[in-house]
Amino acid sequence: MKRDFPTLFERSRPGRRGTRPPRPPEVDLAGLLGAENLRSAPPRLPEVDELTVVRHYTNLSRRQVGVDTNFYPLGSCTMKYNPRVNEAAAALFAELHPYQDPETAQGALQIVYELQEYLAEITGMDAVTLQPAAGAHGELTGMLLIRAYHESRGEGERRRMVLVPDSAHGSNPATASMAGYQVKEVPSGPDGEVDLDALRAALGPEVAAIMLTNPNTLGLFERKILELIDAAHDQGVQLYYDGANLNAIMGWARPGDMGFDVVHLNLHKTFSTPHGGGGPGSGPVGAKAHLAPFLPVPTVKREGERYVLDFDRPQTIGRMRSFYGNFAVMVRAYAYIRMLGAEGLKRASAMAVLNANYLRKKLAAAGYRIPYDRLCKHEFIAQPPEGLKALDVAKALLDYGYHPPTVYFPLIVKEAMMIEPTETESKETLDEYVEAMAEIARRGLEDPEWIAHTPYRTPVRRLDEVAANRKPVLRWRPEEA
Ligand SMILES: *Cc1c(COP(=O)(O)O)cnc(C)c1O
Repeated sequence: MKRDFPTLFERSRPGRRGTRPPRPPEVDLAGLLGAENLRSAPPRLPEVDELTVVRHYTNLSRRQVGVDTNFYPLGSCTMKYNPRVNEAAAALFAELHPYQDPETAQGALQIVYELQEYLAEITGMDAVTLQPAAGAHGELTGMLLIRAYHESRGEGERRRMVLVPDSAHGSNPATASMAGYQVKEVPSGPDGEVDLDALRAALGPEVAAIMLTNPNTLGLFERKILELIDAAHDQGVQLYYDGANLNAIMGWARPGDMGFDVVHLNLHKTFSTPHGGGGPGSGPVGAKAHLAPFLPVPTVKREGERYVLDFDRPQTIGRMRSFYGNFAVMVRAYAYIRMLGAEGLKRASAMAVLNANYLRKKLAAAGYRIPYDRLCKHEFIAQPPEGLKALDVAKALLDYGYHPPTVYFPLIVKEAMMIEPTETESKETLDEYVEAMAEIARRGLEDPEWIAHTPYRTPVRRLDEVAANRKPVLRWRPEEA
């Protein structure tokens, strides 16, 4: 089959080479590794020259939409600009090795230790682990802390249930269930906030935890949060805070002060690591003192002037990841926090909230519906004008040079478009985006055929999304060509 974008395998010609590395010294590999572990045939790699490889990947990257090329208001994902200077900071540690004696890695351990302290301060928690490799991994860690805590009090058998609001991020019920819990959904009220009466009714001696985020997934601050937390704590229920999107409140409010017992953060959203495409990320978990004994090992501890790895935690849930977590992501977060300082972090959140509210108002004026039309935090939900579909607006946006917002999520709003402009976008960008959105709405209503077949200018048009989910092709193999 002729493809419009041939793979490197299709460009392969026998014997064609880039540079030829010097032959490695003769080593008795069979003796070292065992003969059964050696390849019997060379790997099937494309045979191409270096320029072909450079062009292939450069052109592939030009067919991609990213924050570095386009405005990318993907709700809940915080696709913001990450200062390049943080990359330089991370690169300083490129030669560090996890097997190194901690005595020779004091600077790195100091960064880990201080970052733990900063994140504890930012979240209002007593102790922090930086081990989890992503947000969902942090959630799992947090849920295991809660489980260990209930077990240590002899309540593990009884508390089998975790409550999750119906607007929650999908990873919340998924991680609760991976931690061995049954999940029960709590409905939202007409104002988009958790229905306090429904929550009270769902609380009971079998409940282990509630997973929440505030602002919630609609971008709305839960105004009854203190009452809600008191009601849960009265029944011995632990409160989990999904802090993936901390740019909503960072520096202004702290989950710990609201009464939450555990929180995870996404360093790769809020704290300046580029993300998308699956990693590497970092999902630190903060815990109040009563949960701290269960944190994963090792944590980094300070002893006088030295930093040491602390494995001496008899109640630990164990290791959550090999070595110490994704260190380069921690360095970027550390550099970002040090660069902005307390005032700068506060201002970043203020700008995220200002941009979201500006866009909310402007899109309403452009004919988009705003189901919960009140002050939002870092993101908000919009719906297309009556008669248009969120999917069609999303596809049309691609032709206008924008990445679409998150669509059809959260599930409780029909035709939802979840928009997060982030703190790093300028007023001009937001204004141009609104113009495009207004034009799409107008043209789409006038010419349903046009919008139904967008996008026209992308390398591929409308894709079979069901097949992409059910039968994903994650690896191209020469024999499939
Ligand atoms: C992104 C996100 C997560 C999951 O984070 P990953 O790093 O993708 O695992 C969890 N909760 C919320 C609210 C998020 O936005």
